[in-house]
Amino acid sequence: MRGVLAAAWLMLVFVAPVQAAEVSDVRVWGGPEHTRVVFDISEPLDHSVFSLKDPHRLVIDLRNARAVSRLSPGRDEQGRLSGLRSGVRDGTDLRLVLDLDRELKPSTFLLPPSGPHGHRLVVDLQDKAGSSGGKREARRAVRSAERSNGTRSRDLVIAIDAGHGGEDPGAIGHHGTHEKEVVLAIARKLARLVDAEPGMRALLTRDGDYYVSLRQRAAIARDNHADLFISLHADAFKNPRARGSSVYVLSQGGASDEAARWLANRENAADRVGGVDLRDKDDQLASVLLDLSQTATMDASFALGEKVVGELASLGPVHRRQVQQAPFAVLKSPDLPSILVETAFISNPDEERRLKDPRHQQALARALLRGIKGYFHERLPEHGLMASGPVEHVIQRGETLSHIASRYQTSVTRLRDFNQLSSDRVRAGEVLRIPVSGDG
Ligand SMILES: [Zn+2]
Repeated sequence: MRGVLAAAWLMLVFVAPVQAAEVSDVRVWGGPEHTRVVFDISEPLDHSVFSLKDPHRLVIDLRNARAVSRLSPGRDEQGRLSGLRSGVRDGTDLRLVLDLDRELKPSTFLLPPSGPHGHRLVVDLQDKAGSSGGKREARRAVRSAERSNGTRSRDLVIAIDAGHGGEDPGAIGHHGTHEKEVVLAIARKLARLVDAEPGMRALLTRDGDYYVSLRQRAAIARDNHADLFISLHADAFKNPRARGSSVYVLSQGGASDEAARWLANRENAADRVGGVDLRDKDDQLASVLLDLSQTATMDASFALGEKVVGELASLGPVHRRQVQQAPFAVLKSPDLPSILVETAFISNPDEERRLKDPRHQQALARALLRGIKGYFHERLPEHGLMASGPVEHVIQRGETLSHIASRYQTSVTRLRDFNQLSSDRVRAGEVLRIPVSGDG
């Protein structure tokens, strides 16, 4: 009897017309390395992809699917995608044709529902190696490598990481403010302040509305020889009265308190929302290797965190006065002091309003800069104070002898004597020898 029922049921499945998957919307996010096109689909579907030349196009055939609205992506900031057309193919399939402005390497993958999104088909259009498309990070890397040659001191590189972006809005306030937008605004303000400091240079891990995976953010910082990594967020908590900023360093295990656990879960889910190819499976090995050398950096991260939380406290209430620990994936760089700053709770309506205010953003950026400078005042990385012999410092515009003395934790008198200077006046481009402990 059971066998008969099962057979009848199977037949029903096979004869019932298969519902076509629906494609309801499309978004485009242009980043420096690739442009991402995301289609909202009603369910996972089969698809095939091929490229055409003259002109460059990418054709995607979706099996048993139909478009239920006009698919018009927004503008691709990077200009890789110039148009999108769709049409019915073989009666039941949907053909998408993406017009490209150059030859690009496509990759496609499906994403399951997550955050504000349902099922998605992601199409990444990657620049070919050696092409001219947005290689800002690479250029910066070369510059900083040149500067780090020899014994000359180089600029301290501050990696500023605006959380979320593109497909991942981060937390959304009651009035519709997106975390990804306010943290980018604060990150850019902080970058301007850092760049105005003699001997410091800012590196933005993202400088636009596109998603960068958590691992890629740390990789950009390391490839550019960053000295510090500061990830900026403004998250939501289930309790709308929660308020104030907090500063986190990595923990290997649990989180310091309930809010920390909640936030770490949310931030680590960003890759799922923003869209990371799930075929990328070497995370585990990478994290084992990273953990080995992590401990040495924790001390420095705590020191930086303490300076920053102290400065944030001068702006208003902080959520926790101590540096908190939580297992944030973005902080897992073995050799790079890293903190994550929750600048405010966007879920608190008062804080949401302040986060949107450019003056408050600027005040936050200034407080962060004071924290960074306070940290360097106490610990200079090795390339700024080498043990093997005198360091040479090329004077930058705007620098004074006392700037330089405080940066290298020495005195103006000692600098003057060491370089046999007759006055305190220095000129941009001149090279100063910096005494290290034991010298002169
Ligand atoms: Zn966040």
